[in-house]
Amino acid sequence: MPNKRWIAESLFDTLGFRMTYAIERVLYQTQTEHQHLVLFEHKFFGKMLMLDGATQVTTRDEFIYHEMMTHVPIFAHGKAKEVLIVGGGDCGIAKEVLKHKSVARLTQVEIDASVVAFAKEHFPKFTKPVLADKRFDLVIDDGMDYVAKTDRRFDGIIVDSTDPQGPGKVLFTRKFYAACKRCMTAGGVLVTQNGVPFLQPAELVSSVGHFRSLFADAGCYIASIPTYVGGHMAMGWATDDKRLRAVPLGTIAQRYRRAGRPTTRYWTPEVHKAAFALPRFIVEQLAHAKAR
Ligand code: SAM
Repeated sequence: MPNKRWIAESLFDTLGFRMTYAIERVLYQTQTEHQHLVLFEHKFFGKMLMLDGATQVTTRDEFIYHEMMTHVPIFAHGKAKEVLIVGGGDCGIAKEVLKHKSVARLTQVEIDASVVAFAKEHFPKFTKPVLADKRFDLVIDDGMDYVAKTDRRFDGIIVDSTDPQGPGKVLFTRKFYAACKRCMTAGGVLVTQNGVPFLQPAELVSSVGHFRSLFADAGCYIASIPTYVGGHMAMGWATDDKRLRAVPLGTIAQRYRRAGRPTTRYWTPEVHKAAFALPRFIVEQLAHAKAR
């Protein structure tokens, strides 16, 4: 591909490797108040958003992460009415949450207004249905400050954050998770974007360690997302209701039918259950996750 410009994801520079993508067209590039943002067209992955050199979302594989961060906690909980998203700029997760008619109110707390503004222009498939939905409200704030101050209580909290760098760093601290617990209803569930264990083990071990000191049930479930390179992506799991991860397959399938079988391309009741079956190397990593 002579004369093609390539863009590198710098997230794993410290590990000595970079994913690079051939750019068809740069659609948007700016330094926001909080982070560097670039959106470009890629011939296979479609539109790709990078924040501070890390791939956030692509139109080609977004469904995997967005569905697994949403339908697993909501179908496991079974009666989630009040849901909070921390981060979630592009509104891909919000779109999935609002497929659940049983959800009465969805609040998204995003630190960077320009990410949402630009998503309106470049990811209308996400933002249009979300911003038109009366159940949705958007708060521009640091997620840490919001969960520390709010008097609302949530059945589900979904942390769709950047990696533990820049504005996202605080969202991986015990202080943040403790503040999330404070604003959860009894038996509520917290799920978190927790990196790729094969390449970012410390991130997962640290979060699960914090979860273990705060919640009765702590761990993670997994899915593979092509542009979150490095194999399995871990989604942190924390709740005081130990029954949620053990909800039988039949019950998950029944809840899915009762919810009107919302359209999915990755999540199924079987995939939901299987996602908690962790490979041994991740189980061994989590063995080091001491409550702290
Ligand atoms: N799915 C992506 C991933 O796994 O890397 C994340 C997508 S979403 C774009 C991440 C969002 O988190 C960004 O819009 C960013 O602005 C937001 N964010 C980062 N730190 C935040 C904070 N402290 N409070 C609220 N939102 C934050």
